[in-house]
Amino acid sequence: MTLDTIFEEIKKAEKIVILTHESPDGDAVSSSLSVKVALKQLGKEADVIIPQCPKDFKFLPEANTIKEKSEITEYDLAISVDCSDLRRLVGSEEYFETAKTTIQIDHHSVNAMFADLNYVDPVSPACCQILIGMFEYFGIEIDKELGTCLLTGILTDTGGFQYSGVTPETFEFAAELLRKGVNISKICQKVLRNKTKSHCELVKLIYNRMEFFEDGKVVVAYIDLEDMKNANAEFGDDDGLVEIERDIEGVEVAVLLKQKEGTNGYKASLRSKENVNVSDICFLLGGGGHPRAAGCFISGNLEQAKSRILTVIKQEMK
Ligand code: 5GP
Ligand code: MN
Repeated sequence: MTLDTIFEEIKKAEKIVILTHESPDGDAVSSSLSVKVALKQLGKEADVIIPQCPKDFKFLPEANTIKEKSEITEYDLAISVDCSDLRRLVGSEEYFETAKTTIQIDHHSVNAMFADLNYVDPVSPACCQILIGMFEYFGIEIDKELGTCLLTGILTDTGGFQYSGVTPETFEFAAELLRKGVNISKICQKVLRNKTKSHCELVKLIYNRMEFFEDGKVVVAYIDLEDMKNANAEFGDDDGLVEIERDIEGVEVAVLLKQKEGTNGYKASLRSKENVNVSDICFLLGGGGHPRAAGCFISGNLEQAKSRILTVIKQEMK
């Protein structure tokens, strides 16, 4: 079974690196740190490399050890978490490519199976939920420190237990983590409720810029680099904007186009409410994600990006 082989590889390896997808969200950062903390229990030190880590997650155990890059060029083992495709390990793919052995643990339904050992469960609402089962199988004790990382990933990827991927096990696992002393209200305050002033400036723009299509079922807004500069916004301050669009009455598909620095295009973030599979839409444009939350890169100016995404959405909604 893959889990046994994964455990063997971890026990064998000395130099281990943990990696995750670009523009990392709560599940990505928490999964990375969870694996680091769990490996410590096995007597293994591992590097977590995240080129751009949002400041919201700096309160997590071991977050202060996150590296932007490493001086080690060849690791024995690279473990990728919460990432569906090697191309999404932007800025850290070299550590994966040069490692002697590679493992990936993920929950995206479209997954490129890009590692030597792939442990993928598309039904899990968060990569951190997969990790709980895995750590239990390895006999790793889930204490308050590890539980804090794990619950953060679950809370962020499920929008605070609200999304359709939530299973009875999600609550059972969460209950167990609370019994270990994990402070759920502190985590929610830090990663779900806390808003920066720059974020609020971007929210104002979004409300003014929402454009509706298809009888109000589709909404599109954008944020360009100039907006980010004017709002004094950093990476992470733009999180949560597309959810505002999605939650409007009658909206089925919400799109946020964020101009991407150093490219001639836009990063599209898509969310859907009930019926439309946005992962399929993004897949057609070279991206991917989950049925209700997905993304892709679209080259061109704003009008071109908007028109391209709208064409695919309209097709998919027919
Ligand atoms: P977000 O809109 O928050 O950036 O991403 C939503 C979901 O879609 C996340 O699970 C994220 O990993 C995935 N996603 C975003 N952009 C891409 C992309 O370009 N390619 C793939 N394969 N997945 C993406
Ligand atoms: Mn995830």
